[in-house]
Amino acid sequence: MKNPLSDRITSLPASATLAMAAKARELKLAGKDIIGLSLGEPDFNTPDFIKQAAIDAVNQDYNAYTPVDGYLELKEAICTKFKRDNNITYTPNQVVVSTGAKQSIANIMQVLLNPGDEVLLPCPYWVSYSAIATLCEAKSVEIRSSIEANFKITPAQLEAAITPKTKLILFNSPNNPSGVMYSEQEYRALAAVLEKHPNIFIMSDEIYEHINYDAKPFSFAAIESMYDRTITVNGLAKAFAMTGWRIGYIGAAEWIAKACTKLQGQITSGTNCIAQRAAITAVLAPVTKIQYMVDEFKTRRGIIIDLLREIDGFNVNVPEGAFYVFPDVSAFFGKTIHGIKIENASDFALFILEKANVATVTGDAFGAPDCIRISYAASELQIREAIKRIKEALS
Ligand code: GLU
Repeated sequence: MKNPLSDRITSLPASATLAMAAKARELKLAGKDIIGLSLGEPDFNTPDFIKQAAIDAVNQDYNAYTPVDGYLELKEAICTKFKRDNNITYTPNQVVVSTGAKQSIANIMQVLLNPGDEVLLPCPYWVSYSAIATLCEAKSVEIRSSIEANFKITPAQLEAAITPKTKLILFNSPNNPSGVMYSEQEYRALAAVLEKHPNIFIMSDEIYEHINYDAKPFSFAAIESMYDRTITVNGLAKAFAMTGWRIGYIGAAEWIAKACTKLQGQITSGTNCIAQRAAITAVLAPVTKIQYMVDEFKTRRGIIIDLLREIDGFNVNVPEGAFYVFPDVSAFFGKTIHGIKIENASDFALFILEKANVATVTGDAFGAPDCIRISYAASELQIREAIKRIKEALS
């Protein structure tokens, strides 16, 4: 029988992060002692004060459909947060709450992109950006970077990548997978290029903003000339350890917000009412309430970098935010270790999974084929054991 599935889904790659997490889960169930460092998911519980807000919402009978774009109180709270943390002024009619930042990103691309439009992806980029662009029949255009350039693109590279078909550029700082952060000065230099191209929109994915160690993050929409055409994406998953609650949101020009609401109204409606009530408490909470998690991630960052640097062949930069390290492992390509030939990063990640029982994600999925991503959102004990095993497997 001819494949009955649509071409759209047949050509869609599976999410590499979720696929590796599923594989690790499967191997664990089969009795293997796998350490999962593939998924970007805090190993903390949601803070009690947020859980209590959800319990209160259940008891207060919040159970009906919510407005498609989210409760007004939540959108107001998000505006307060945007002003407080990002120096961006949005009004509630510019905010749309969605089922995770992933849906926010999918909304944006679906409302802005036509077939054939080009989407610029500074590398490395989060796996689903290119897949969602493909779903929109748009063309992903990668702007390559390397560990030597600290995984950042330059204004000259941006200028060179722009064509008359360029519609959207996706920024993400702190970055998943590299942990790199663009400074205000660097963002302003990129904005100076975009000022010459008024038809290009900018999506600024700031989901890791609170997880930063050395510098304060800067929001692209805070640049006055970029405000109208920047869509700021954020959510609660990472900073508040609320991955499963699925709350993402955007701030954007009102016409973009309206379009996202229209799309959402046909696909999912308003997101879960209890999670939205709890989100009001979370976004209004002072950032100091979640600092203990950031401090812990910072300690783990130091540990994992020191340990990885002890392994010959690992080239590691210092991530300034998020909870990933993104070592360049190309020194291993072309080598045969314990009878296994390693040609590329996927082979390397598979080798580590098989020989060290440690799950990571290949850099190919992020537009950086020399690297692998290792999440350190895991306990110190697990991190130490995982890197010890990797070192042994490679020796
Ligand atoms: N964003 C996380 C990651 O990169 C969660 C998994 C996903 O949605 O890709 O690991």
